[in-house]
Amino acid sequence: MTDSAGGPRSVLVTGASRGIGRAIAERFVAAGDKVATIHRGGDLPEGVLGVRGDMADTGSVDAAFTAVEKEHGPVEVLVANAGITRDQLLMRMTDEDFQNVLDVNLTGAFRCVRRASKGMIRLRRGRVVLISSVVATYGGQGQVNYAASKAGLIGMARSLTRELGSRSITANVVAPGFIDTAMTASLPQERQDAYRAAIPAGRFGQADEVAGVVEFLASPAAAYVSGAVIPVDGGLGMGH
Ligand code: NAD
Repeated sequence: MTDSAGGPRSVLVTGASRGIGRAIAERFVAAGDKVATIHRGGDLPEGVLGVRGDMADTGSVDAAFTAVEKEHGPVEVLVANAGITRDQLLMRMTDEDFQNVLDVNLTGAFRCVRRASKGMIRLRRGRVVLISSVVATYGGQGQVNYAASKAGLIGMARSLTRELGSRSITANVVAPGFIDTAMTASLPQERQDAYRAAIPAGRFGQADEVAGVVEFLASPAAAYVSGAVIPVDGGLGMGH
């Protein structure tokens, strides 16, 4: 894709060292964009500029953005993907379990969106894609913290749309179901089997199937799509 001047766009995908974020970054690289990530370490896909940073720390996110923008120019496409789980039954969930997950998944996205909005307003265009989860609206046992963080992203995208929609900036949510990644591989086998049985598609998704939807939301074809929650879940969450 090209920016308004016809050059490659500056795209930032948080947490692109593995899983869904990695597949998203690879898609944008293949499309010819300048792709950067804020990450915590590990190897990165070919062609991705990596800057170390922690979503849970405002100073770290701001500094990483500055480093990315120095190399690639103002971020035009932001994909807030970095996320963690800390599953625990409600009765045993500590304040720390709850706060850490909210701090990375929800406040981390806020830190990125706030920082990115400055450049997007100046550019008079921008695309924000927040990676939520089917669990945001479907719920998940042991996931009170995670579901709350992912549901919060929906209110964030819709408020962003109301604040910035008139400036050619869109904000959408992608809600993956169960995707083959380290996050799902760590679930006990019987839970994986139970989820698979509940998914109309009869299988887990692939990270690239999420990436394709993100690529579409960042493309010119999606200029009039904003505040949407797009499930990529094989039908698991229908109606929720
Ligand atoms: P993953 O654990 O494989 O990758 C997460 C990435 O986020 C990693 O690169 C990690 O380093 C980064 N990250 C985590 N905490 C960070 C922090 N504090 N600062 C900076 N980076 C940090 O996860 P995944 O399965 O690829 O999931 C990616 C996103 O998709 C997450 O937001 C997750 O909640 C969401 N999601 C995943 C699934 C699934 O089935 N895997 C389903 C629905 C939603």
